[in-house]
Amino acid sequence: VIDRPFSVVRELLDNSIDAGASKIDLHIKGGGIDHIRVVDNGRGMSPKDMKICYLPYSTSKINSMEDLDSLNTLGFRGEALSSIAACSRLEIISKLENSPPNKLTVHSSTGKISLTQTAGSEGTIIDVSDLFYSIPARKKFLKKPSSEAAACKKTFIEKALPFPDISFRFFSDNKLKIFLPSTTLKERFLAAYPNLFNVQLIHEAYSEHKEYKLRIIAGDPALKRKDRRYIQIFLNNRRIYEFALIQAVEYGYSDFMPGGNYPVLFLFIDINPSLIDFNIHPAKKEVRFFNLPEIHHAVVDLIKSFLSSFEYNYKKSIENNTPSVEFSEFSGILREKNNSYKANTIQDRHRDNKLIEKIKSSESFSEKTTFSKTKEESNKYRIIYMGQLFKLFLLASIDEVFYFIDQHAAHEKILYNELRSKKHRKQDLLIPFIFELDRSGDELFNKNLQEYHNIGFTIEKLGNSRWQLISIPELCAGKEDIIINFIKSQKGSVSRLETDLYADIACKSAIKDGDILDNTTAVNLIQQTMELKNARCPHGRPVWFQISREELFHFVGRL
Ligand code: ADP
Ligand code: MG
Repeated sequence: VIDRPFSVVRELLDNSIDAGASKIDLHIKGGGIDHIRVVDNGRGMSPKDMKICYLPYSTSKINSMEDLDSLNTLGFRGEALSSIAACSRLEIISKLENSPPNKLTVHSSTGKISLTQTAGSEGTIIDVSDLFYSIPARKKFLKKPSSEAAACKKTFIEKALPFPDISFRFFSDNKLKIFLPSTTLKERFLAAYPNLFNVQLIHEAYSEHKEYKLRIIAGDPALKRKDRRYIQIFLNNRRIYEFALIQAVEYGYSDFMPGGNYPVLFLFIDINPSLIDFNIHPAKKEVRFFNLPEIHHAVVDLIKSFLSSFEYNYKKSIENNTPSVEFSEFSGILREKNNSYKANTIQDRHRDNKLIEKIKSSESFSEKTTFSKTKEESNKYRIIYMGQLFKLFLLASIDEVFYFIDQHAAHEKILYNELRSKKHRKQDLLIPFIFELDRSGDELFNKNLQEYHNIGFTIEKLGNSRWQLISIPELCAGKEDIIINFIKSQKGSVSRLETDLYADIACKSAIKDGDILDNTTAVNLIQQTMELKNARCPHGRPVWFQISREELFHFVGRL
């Protein structure tokens, strides 16, 4: 279990936490290669325990096999101190309440062991020096002190995060590097990563289940990272690397994160120890769960419900109130009530391919941004459409907020929701659509075929990499080209087939940037956009930019 200084740090911090300490200091010198010291104010050890604590398999944490099922300590194998003693000089000073402190020195290579009374306060001090002095081969694999120090620091933070009640300090080469006073989980997180996250963008949520509890420290969807470094999972206070759960986190955020972006999310799972088994990995990094799918589900649910508070739900504010639609005076066109026109859905588009031509040919509204007064209206909810900007943004004010709506992203999301909204009936094609794949594409498609069948496609092989599309989900009618191109573009497994395929269809069918919209189409698009529950395109990009009256006034110093 001991191969680098940070593994010593990990084991010693575990022991201090298990000893019930409320204060723990870690000191390292030369990246921990020269010296590691951990000082705690925990319950200490009796001289009798000290005499044996460095021997293999001596642990005070289990007495019987049954104890393994109810463990709530970090250690239980009695391996750490013996492994450390075997490759370093180990010194332990420990004091139990109401008894004098003792000092144990173990030099395993010379076989010199001593236990003597000494001076000291309650708790335990463990000194590990000259790591691997007896194993030159392992010493060679160590990195330079600064890299080892960085690894120790990372371990220190991982240990301190799940225990916000305990006060931790980290010293490197006699300098205090990190001080984490006892506090709440969220404050601990912020203190552990100072200056990295804006406090307003970090949130907390919980869920409780029969056998386990979930806590998340969750980044705002606006907080995006290019790597998964800040997706971390802790199981019973120990960092684990369980890919299925990392995926659950990513899946939970998928509606909010454009591809290639990752959220900040720390998940803390507290579970009945009988439902997990840490014994499969020596450093307890991997674990077997007996109910992983259930936990996966619960994690996705918790994240989705947490994120739902970020969904813009305009419907709420207009309950029982039909919107009126008004154009500003410069357009001089129309003012509608009870607007019931449905913007062009996939079906409409399919039925009437000329619509897009109509949309394109309508020049009347491009790039006008003039504002003008509107008549007072009694309704709460009024759309004032002001035109199109840069052939992409629909400009509208709604109540006291001004919107720049990305017409492509908005339409894409509306079409996507429609495709995803229900299980579709299958529709046979009048004439099967024949397509051909290259060798590798053909092999891959063979593997993924079942997934396509599952979501309502009937596709049969004709032989020699030739296939025929026989039936498709109803709403995909007319999209055969897009579907075939999608199949051809796949490079791996299709674990998110439904999402990816429908996102692709929606993207290719939606109004493009550059399309010029007539007023009616624009207003209907705005109206449907306002009714989106999550105003982000299927790739996670926001659909609009908004600015309130208050913010605008503030910008010019009026507030
Ligand atoms: P484990 O943690 O698996 O029991 P270790 O080798 O890490 O095994 O430690 C052996 C024993 O030494 C522990 O069970 C505990 O009784 C004692 N011990 C180690 N460190 C401390 C400490 N900081 N405070 C009190 N007891 C300790
Ligand atoms: Mg231990």
